[in-house]
Amino acid sequence: MVYDLVVLGAGAAGLMASASLPGKKVLVLERNPRPGAKIAISGGGRCNLTNQNLSPDDYLGERAFVEAVLRRFDNDALLAWLRRRGLEPVLRKENQWFCPESAKELVDVLLGACAHAEFAYDTEILGVRKEGDRFFIETSRGEFSAPKVLVATGGLSYASVGATGIGFAIAEDFGHALVPPRPALVGLTLQPAEAWMKALAGLSLPVAIRVGRREIEGDLLFAHKGVSGPAVLDASLWWNRGKLTVDFLPGVRLARLFKNPKKSAMSQIPLPRRFVRAFFEALKLPNVPYHAMDEVQKQRLSLLKSYAFAPAGTFGYARAEVTKGGVNTAEIDPATMQSRLVKGLFFAGEVVDVTGGLGGYNFQWAFSSAVVAAKGCEGAAAL
Ligand SMILES: Cc1cc2nc3c(=O)[nH]c(=O)nc-3n(C[C@H](O)[C@H](O)[C@H](O)COP(=O)(O)OP(=O)(O)OC[C@H]3O[C@@H](n4cnc5c(N)ncnc54)[C@H](O)[C@@H]3O)c2cc1C
Repeated sequence: MVYDLVVLGAGAAGLMASASLPGKKVLVLERNPRPGAKIAISGGGRCNLTNQNLSPDDYLGERAFVEAVLRRFDNDALLAWLRRRGLEPVLRKENQWFCPESAKELVDVLLGACAHAEFAYDTEILGVRKEGDRFFIETSRGEFSAPKVLVATGGLSYASVGATGIGFAIAEDFGHALVPPRPALVGLTLQPAEAWMKALAGLSLPVAIRVGRREIEGDLLFAHKGVSGPAVLDASLWWNRGKLTVDFLPGVRLARLFKNPKKSAMSQIPLPRRFVRAFFEALKLPNVPYHAMDEVQKQRLSLLKSYAFAPAGTFGYARAEVTKGGVNTAEIDPATMQSRLVKGLFFAGEVVDVTGGLGGYNFQWAFSSAVVAAKGCEGAAAL
């Protein structure tokens, strides 16, 4: 069989790119026995497929590159594309668009639009080489060839549903530079100084986390291994090493709390007792009225508003929703997603050095970059 394009990976990006090339001879290679494994488990089984508020600021990556790609296929374009195919996404949590019932609905719509494509499942991609104008894809089921290849194999997160990192290896084999991949949208482990937090496992609090110049509001969940929850996951996108600062009382002025001079400071803090006790113990604060504290103690108590600590690391790829880093965008044309180094080689999705925060931004990126790549493939010669 002669193919126009081989798509590597039947995830969000690979499916959308294939769906966007009707009438072309497209082969999709996938190691899983079925497509869209990550879509199926995403967003609590309902897939948060995009966000009402979409901006390049929601992404870690080269701003101009992200903007150029999103402009070509944004959240409105995605919603319209889905509605034309009978899927009516539902707005939840203020600005996040989800599948109405189940993520399977999205997989079905994507697959339905891929009727022209051929799928080879249970097929492990091992490597790609180029000879003359053709690419040869080596797999566990033999070799396939085409004049164009789209690398849509995602990152390293959640190997349990198919991630392998082969896309990074292919990019490097073709001379592309990688921004070092790291786990992101992931819980953070703690240094011994923060061991007190581990005793709070199971407790969740609304907080504001400062990381670099960003401030992220949301819930922090204390876990056995460290800290997690939406605010921490989002913070992990912007954190590499060094300190984060947590405000455990966002919107509350500390000075206004301790109005009753007779009551202990502890009893006037509007946070769960379990947390307050652990915090006082960790910071060696006495259970006395605020006014009875000395200046050093008051200073330590004020850390409720600005507790700075350096996480030890992350919960790792097995628990990370995404992989940040990836193929350097300086070497990809944002108008086509084609490699600037190798003609006929295209990239889309998480394999590229663009990573969004929580809220549907990563699927939007996968879909936007896939549509741009499909158009790029179509526009390029020989298809
Ligand atoms: C638990 C979880 C929940 C998530 N929830 C959301 C959410 O609600 N909203 C959101 O925007 N994002 C969410 N994400 C992130 C989102 O799933 C990814 O950003 C998105 O799937 C990336 O799309 P992709 O097509 O680039 O990669 P993937 O969807 O990972 O697809 C890559 C495909 O390539 C295949 N592949 C990899 N290596 C090989 C190989 N060697 N041979 C053959 N095939 C291979 C994989 O099996 C996979 O099917 C979530 C992620 C996880 C893990």
